[in-house]
Amino acid sequence: MAIEKQPSCDDPQEPDLLPVAVALARMQEQVKTVSESKQVSLRESLNHVLAKDIISPIKVPAYTNSAMDGYAINSADLPSGDVERKLTVLDTAWAGRPVDIVLKPGEAVRIMTGGMMPAGSDTVVIQEHVALDGEHILIDGSTVAGRNVRHAGEDINTGDIVLRAGTLVNPAELGLIASLGIDAVEVKRCLKVAFFSTGDELRPLETHAGKKLSPGEIFDSNRHTLFALLSREQVELVDLGVVPDTREATTAAIQKAADVADLVITSGGVSAGQADFVSESIAELGELTFWKLAMRPGRPLACGVVNDCRFFGLPGNPVAVMVTFYEFVLPTIKAMMGCSTTDTQLFSVKAKESIRKVPGRIEYQRGIVEVDDNGEQTVRTTGKQGAGRLSSMCLANCFIVLPVECDGVAPGDLVRVRPFFGLV
Ligand code: AMP
Ligand code: MG
Repeated sequence: MAIEKQPSCDDPQEPDLLPVAVALARMQEQVKTVSESKQVSLRESLNHVLAKDIISPIKVPAYTNSAMDGYAINSADLPSGDVERKLTVLDTAWAGRPVDIVLKPGEAVRIMTGGMMPAGSDTVVIQEHVALDGEHILIDGSTVAGRNVRHAGEDINTGDIVLRAGTLVNPAELGLIASLGIDAVEVKRCLKVAFFSTGDELRPLETHAGKKLSPGEIFDSNRHTLFALLSREQVELVDLGVVPDTREATTAAIQKAADVADLVITSGGVSAGQADFVSESIAELGELTFWKLAMRPGRPLACGVVNDCRFFGLPGNPVAVMVTFYEFVLPTIKAMMGCSTTDTQLFSVKAKESIRKVPGRIEYQRGIVEVDDNGEQTVRTTGKQGAGRLSSMCLANCFIVLPVECDGVAPGDLVRVRPFFGLV
């Protein structure tokens, strides 16, 4: 008698696999942004989301100043073409030390970058373009009227909305707010995120670091990966340790987590195995949306809510944890924080070697973008792509994102990559 086979994560084309984009859109619909905000000092606001617009109380630049080291003149004194004109240098305007002078025709002021333009001047002739002649300078007509001057308010005007509520404060935003003289910022409160690992095979480092494992045991690494991923965000962490594979323990842990946190993240126990209780527990305590996703790694993903607490049951395989975190958990965290933008840019790069892939699921292969001997940027995989090989994430500097329909990549084909590195 032939065995009637059930769908499994080995099947590239299960009929009921949900496309990642559809799952992401559904997830975004369900997200609720935290409503509470708090006032913090500027430096504390780093990595937080602005709860209110930042409105400039001043002009930037605050005063009209020189963009170069040179001589402030009135453009009416510029001769035409190669004709030279002699101007009398009255004084020096240093940055922070303006001169109290009103320029008259035939006069100039030595000026440094950032120095305030004296009254009567509108142009700076850079120092490299003048000839010195005692108390005088010689200029020609090569400087365009109005050049090398930064006008008061040309970057920001008083009353301008400089940053919108929903902006994530990164270094550039932090500096910009400082440039306005603002040191207290209203930001969304931090999310509280609880997380735990599930699995009878797991031994926590807290009790077993350096110890010999018994057959069938492994160290719990996912909880540390999640700790590290979450620590990059402005969230408060609640680490609930390792939970054994029983329905009672899983339900109790989820209940405890949901009582204290805005978001709960678990790993393991969401497949169809007989020791997989996470989905059942969520369904018992709240509402469960379970997705079998058309992605690899990361096919099983449990989402849900328990009271007001959002829940993610990530798969147990260590690489799947990272992929599903970046694809699903991170955008959810950002949205819950009230962040209006997420940065998930993909770039096209030439494949250096062929890449095996069967159609049916989007794949996040671990890749290395590098410059080849011809100076061209190419990408190759890190080698074997098993979802348990966390070392592949350490070797990689990008995900190679191969779309559902892709049936393999030939050398020289363009593939999409999502870099791990980013300037923020
Ligand atoms: P599961 O989703 O629970 O069936 O787990 C899938 C695979 O991931 C199994 O090989 C587990 O041993 C492994 N795994 C589950 N949880 C962890 C963890 N916290 N740390 C490392 N590996 C894990
Ligand atoms: Mg398990």
